[in-house]
Parts: sequence; C-alpha cells; structure tokens
Amino acid sequence: MTPQRSSGKIYLAEPRGFCAGVRRALDTVEQALSSYATPIYVFHEIVHNDFVVNELKKRGVIFVENIASVPVGSILILSAHGASAEVEKEAAKRGLKLIDATCPLVKRIHTKAEKLHNSGVGIYLIGHRGHPEVTGTMGRIDNKGVVIENELEAAALARPENDRRHACLTQTTLSADDTADIVKALKQVIPQLETIESICYATKNRQEAVKKLGGVCDDIIVIGSAKSSNSNRLRETAEKAGTRAILINCANDLPEDIFNSSTNIGITAGASAPEYLVNELIALLEKHGREFAGSIVVDQEHLSFKLPPFPES
Ligand code: SF4
Repeated sequence: MTPQRSSGKIYLAEPRGFCAGVRRALDTVEQALSSYATPIYVFHEIVHNDFVVNELKKRGVIFVENIASVPVGSILILSAHGASAEVEKEAAKRGLKLIDATCPLVKRIHTKAEKLHNSGVGIYLIGHRGHPEVTGTMGRIDNKGVVIENELEAAALARPENDRRHACLTQTTLSADDTADIVKALKQVIPQLETIESICYATKNRQEAVKKLGGVCDDIIVIGSAKSSNSNRLRETAEKAGTRAILINCANDLPEDIFNSSTNIGITAGASAPEYLVNELIALLEKHGREFAGSIVVDQEHLSFKLPPFPES
C-alpha cells in the first residue's frame, strides 16, 4: 500500500548514520584509549560531529589542527578525512607515533591522485576548498591540482593548450547528481578528461535513501553537523526531492512548528551522526503524538574495514 503523505507518520531512511569509515575511525580511537596513556592526539576532528568529539575530549583525546603543538613522542591519530604527505613527514620528524585512521576509501583517492600526478597527468579535484579531505588529497600531489567547487568554476576554466592527459577525482562525500553536472561542464572544456569514480558507497546510499524518503514525506530531518559535508548534501538532496529539509544537531534543535503539522516526517542521519541521536528524535516526536511507521530501505550495508596498525607503546 502506498503511504499517505499527510498521515503524521515517521519514516526512517535506511541506510543512515555511521558508515564503515567512521566506525573504523572511532574504533581506532577506542583501541588507542585502551592501549595507551592519555592524552592521545587526533589531527582534525576524528569525524565531524560535536557529540562524538566532546565525549572523546572528556576521555583524554586532544584534537589539533596543527601538529606543531603535539608533544614529541605522543600518539597522533589521523582522522577519517585523511591528511597530506607533509603532515606524515612532519609527524615522523617530530617523533610522533602515528596511527592512520584515514578511511580506506579516501586513501584510495590519495593513491590514485598520486599515481596519476607522478605519471604527469593533470589533476582536477571536485570538492570544497578548506575541507580536510580536499586539503589532504591536494597535499598528496604537492597542491599541483586544480580544485573545482561548482559548475560555474568548471565552465570558467581555460582549455589546456598542451596534449597532456587530464583526470578528475572528487571528494568522497559530494552530491552524486551535482558532481555529474560539474563533470559534464568540465568535459566541455577538456573533452579528453578521464574521470575517476570517487564518491563513496555510503554517500550514494544515503542520498538514494533520502530521495526515496522524499516520495512519502513533506518534511525531512537530517541529523548531522553543519560542518559535515555528507550531512549538508543529504539536506540538499531532500530539498531537491521537493521536501522541506532541516539539518539539526539533535532533537533539541527541532523547530517548534513541526509539532503542529500533520505531514509525514522522514528522518536520516549523516555518516558521522550516532544512532542514539536518531532514537532521541523519534522518542520526542512520538511524545508529541507521531507514530513510527517504519524504514524506507534502499540498501543494507555490511561493509567493515580492518583497524590500522598500532605502534608499540
Ligand atoms: Fe569513508 Fe565514505 Fe564514510 Fe567518508 S563517508 S568515511 S569516504 S565510507
């Protein structure tokens, strides 16, 4: 039976929340906390979620944006977003014990970018300037590539005059639809451009689930941080599906008017948002008379990654 759009029900997107890369990064920190004395240092927020980060701070994890402040000999974990080769070199120079929690799917982009760059291929990286993943990937190729944020920037590029090979990679957490448009614009300028599929399975699955949620809901709530790229893309995907889309950190941020409407509410969560935040949101909506109707399933994910090697203490 097709669900009624205005029956005041709650629908959950499946999959949502933690992806394999985030789970691995958090398990890496847990393992480090049980193996080494605190403090333990993490380069960047391990994942973009304040609840996760604040909880770890209380347990002796210090997050740094610059490893110059990390005392010699300390444990330093690289976040799921990855880091540049320069950071690794600097860590080795300063005698830090490095644990690499970079998501293997980000690592794959690093390796591809390095290989292409080293064989003389010009690199275009679609992504958000200043995002740690983009900074890390560009740092793997001595910042010699060109970062493209949108279609306008792609269209404004000068056509390369040489007959060099050119390839395009992307940040892993972009909108699949927007990226396809940017690649199209890039190919107008560089017809021979080689494209490397870079958006990860978790990002794509969560966006597809939101599109499907948009078929039965008028309001979609995305649990996630404003800093989280994939959470922002979920909000945009929901908007494009024709729903009102609200990105909130937790249930307390829910706008009041939602309690007075009778629309179906869809819920999803970014790849760095813990499931307990989703459960709290459902509980709050149920307290206000909403009924949980079930999940809208696109895929059931079973991927997991091995933990990285740990140095001796
Ligand atoms: Fe890895 Fe994708 Fe998760 Fe990022 S969103 S950590 S690339 S699986």
